[in-house]
Amino acid sequence: MGTQARELRVIVIGAGMAGILSAIKLRETGIGDVVVYEKADRLGGTWRENTYPGIACDVPSHLYSYSFALNPDWSRSFSDGAEIQAYFERVAEEHDVVPLIRFGEEVTGCEWRDGRWHLSTAAGTRDEADVVIAATGVLHHPKYPDIDGLDDFAGACFHSARWDHSVDLDGARVGVIGTGSTAVQITGALVDRVAHLSVFQRTAQWIAPLDNPPYDEETRRLFREDPERLRGVHDSLSVAFEGFSLCVVDAASPAMAAVEKACRDNLEQSVSDPDLRERLRPDYRAGCKRLVLSDNFYEAIQKPQAELVTEPIERVEAGGVRTRDGRLHELDVLVLATGFHADAFMRPMGVVGRNGTELADVWADRPTAYLSISIPEFPNLFLLNGPNGPVGNFSLIEVAELQLAYVLQLVDRLRSGECTEISATQAATDDFEDQRLEASRNTIWATGCTSWYLDDRGVPAVWPFPFARFREEMAAPDLGAYEQV
Ligand code: NAP
Repeated sequence: MGTQARELRVIVIGAGMAGILSAIKLRETGIGDVVVYEKADRLGGTWRENTYPGIACDVPSHLYSYSFALNPDWSRSFSDGAEIQAYFERVAEEHDVVPLIRFGEEVTGCEWRDGRWHLSTAAGTRDEADVVIAATGVLHHPKYPDIDGLDDFAGACFHSARWDHSVDLDGARVGVIGTGSTAVQITGALVDRVAHLSVFQRTAQWIAPLDNPPYDEETRRLFREDPERLRGVHDSLSVAFEGFSLCVVDAASPAMAAVEKACRDNLEQSVSDPDLRERLRPDYRAGCKRLVLSDNFYEAIQKPQAELVTEPIERVEAGGVRTRDGRLHELDVLVLATGFHADAFMRPMGVVGRNGTELADVWADRPTAYLSISIPEFPNLFLLNGPNGPVGNFSLIEVAELQLAYVLQLVDRLRSGECTEISATQAATDDFEDQRLEASRNTIWATGCTSWYLDDRGVPAVWPFPFARFREEMAAPDLGAYEQV
């Protein structure tokens, strides 16, 4: 194999956090031919799609920032969705990658033929690339609940990720189905606006306390004037979150016990009515489901206009939600905060690799990828925040940055002419999967609850090792794990 420099054309799918990152870094490494396909008319990914009242990121903003674009002006420790969306738009503009984005172009097909990826979009565009980076997001496809009569509801009904801002909530009787991170944020934001709020809880959630003070102007000025101070905050938060990874992957650890105690104390200290407290108390370990953080949920649910409904839902009717005890909870608006199809990833896009290998077949049981990045027989296709990666209560920005730095090292081999095709071997993928399954058993996510972390077998479909191992793996690819042609 020669080592001739090669001009590469790279297509990035998705202009969310990871897609913008990819565009910026690909250009920085000197790849001039970069195109980003985005199905919507605006960048921002999850922050564009989720606009529900109360939306915020429960990862501190100074950590949930690109390491190369730290933001001295975050308004609070945990900023709201609109501020985060504005941040991504500003960073994309400042790095001049907006012109690379083709908006309103949903990639529907992606086929490896004659040594290149051939893409097609819903709008009929055809394009080709040497490398494809799938930055298509994790929690992207809304999951609608399978509840009888949902279509019979006479009022407004929408999923939390499809918020209908034309619906007037002030003084309305609102129902929220779900008690995940989304529903908890919605509850805190809506309770003082509505006439009545019914929160339909199928499974109680542990809630860790969250302190969300605003940054005053003086603090922001110091961050502006002293970038080292700002970086120090980012780095120390990163270390703290790395510590969190040690407890969730070791359910028996004292650190995990301390997190659980904090959740129990939060419940005891925040909820005064013993009956309500018991109905809010989960019967599984804290952290088993993705930990919810909130500074206002317990306060909100104790307000007179709020009601926690624990009786199971029988069906939805024109007038509201009927619970199994026969009671009709009359509603004007019904919000479905029922989560996402977390295992969809690039799907339903039709992806066809070498020799006609269909991703739909490879992933028929469940999605897998070597180190969550590369799939055997799908050369030069790299996934950011792909299957089984570190997604639980971490900064996905940090995850994507580490993954992209790794991917760029593989891309470098293509650029230098060291190879023209690169993808993980089946053996490396199987070996990684075996290790992952083994380690999963010790994690808090496998201690007996249902959650979107679990695959169809009940195995946590997330990175089950300490975050430090992720850093190490991402530092430099083990080329022995790759087939290079
Ligand atoms: P989720 O965690 O999957 O929660 C869905 C909720 O809907 C659960 O309470 C579930 O109950 C309930 N549900 C689903 N189907 C139901 C049905 N048929 N009947 C009754 N209840 C039903 O979804 P999410 O709250 O949207 O959060 C998803 C993830 O997004 C989070 O875990 C987090 O990773 C991310 N997120 C992050 C933030 C942040 O601040 N960083 C904010 C929001 C979301 P069961 O528990 O019984 O299944």
